Amino acid sequence: MDDALDCLIIGGGPAGLTAAIYLARFHLDIRVVDAGKSRASWIPCTRNHAGFPDGIKGTELLQRMRDQACKYGAKVETEVVTKLERDDDTGLFTATWGSGSATARSVLLATGVTNRRPPMDEELHDDALARGLVRYCPICDGYEVTDKKVGVIGSDSHGVAEALFIRSYTTDVTLIAPDKALRLKPEDNKKLKEAGIDCVDGPAQAVAIAKDCITVDTAEGHYTFDTIYPALGSDTHTQLAEMVGADLSKEGCIKVDSHQRTNVPCLYAAGDVVIGLDQISHAMGEGGVAATAIRNDLAEQRPFWRELTQESVLQK
Ligand SMILES: Cc1cc2nc3c(=O)[nH]c(=O)nc-3n(C[C@H](O)[C@H](O)[C@H](O)COP(=O)(O)OP(=O)(O)OC[C@H]3O[C@@H](n4cnc5c(N)ncnc54)[C@H](O)[C@@H]3O)c2cc1C
Repeated sequence: MDDALDCLIIGGGPAGLTAAIYLARFHLDIRVVDAGKSRASWIPCTRNHAGFPDGIKGTELLQRMRDQACKYGAKVETEVVTKLERDDDTGLFTATWGSGSATARSVLLATGVTNRRPPMDEELHDDALARGLVRYCPICDGYEVTDKKVGVIGSDSHGVAEALFIRSYTTDVTLIAPDKALRLKPEDNKKLKEAGIDCVDGPAQAVAIAKDCITVDTAEGHYTFDTIYPALGSDTHTQLAEMVGADLSKEGCIKVDSHQRTNVPCLYAAGDVVIGLDQISHAMGEGGVAATAIRNDLAEQRPFWRELTQESVLQK
């Protein structure tokens, strides 16, 4: 029990790293294990994150947060946790990854989601993403496509909703089916028509990029856009939560209460892996709430009284 960490944070994106900063500053013994695939690391430059009027690159924001957490004693490792278990008698969690394992009194899952990518070559995708020719989050960066020519790759009501959302930034929006002919509900067709959004049948594949545009090959011919937004949904990383019996919502996210507690004692979740606004600010907010709940819940079991250290005695 004494070797056990106070908290193991799985996932080192904005949610996990914010929690790490808080928990380390609460003087708790914590570790972050992160697979290194934060969605924030895909962001060429975020311009809606408060406090950075000129924007900040996602990787730089993450590095700053990691540095801040480590400054206060958090340890951050790059590994993929493959197994999570909980001993019902002791309440302790054991997490396992390639080169090791850890036991912890509490676990925060901040494992995020992965956006489904459109059909296109991986290298082309990454290059297009870096140049803003492929974007994933109109709430984040719709402003940047104001009055531009935009294609939305999607077919269901999610694709329709995204196309309608983007229509408030530009008059030139086209909805393209990724795999086959578009088959939409009559009410969706009506909304698209009223908004002046064109529809194109798939299968579609982004085939080439130039400096300022991206070309999509569709069943109806080639189309060139300033930006395409894939609206193909995402996969939520809930496997570890399921291993220890955490409940999921109907959307497939980890269910939590207003303090980020799951139904499993001392298991918490924060960020995109929980239902909510998938944004950095929201992930950070939930990370802070989770960290404070973790600290207070653990203190109920065993108070965190500060003991005199050699330095504090010398300072007196
Ligand atoms: C292209 C793009 C642009 C965006 N732009 C913006 C923007 O401008 N503004 C904004 O607010 N939001 C933006 N977002 C959304 C934002 O990036 C996310 O909401 C945010 O990163 C969520 O933080 P998180 O900590 O919940 O998850 P993530 O940042 O995704 O971090 C989750 C971490 O958990 C790790 N992990 C998962 N499973 C395991 C495991 N088993 N073991 C160990 N580690 C694991 C992952 O590798 C990852 O590092 C954008 C997203 C994308 C894709």
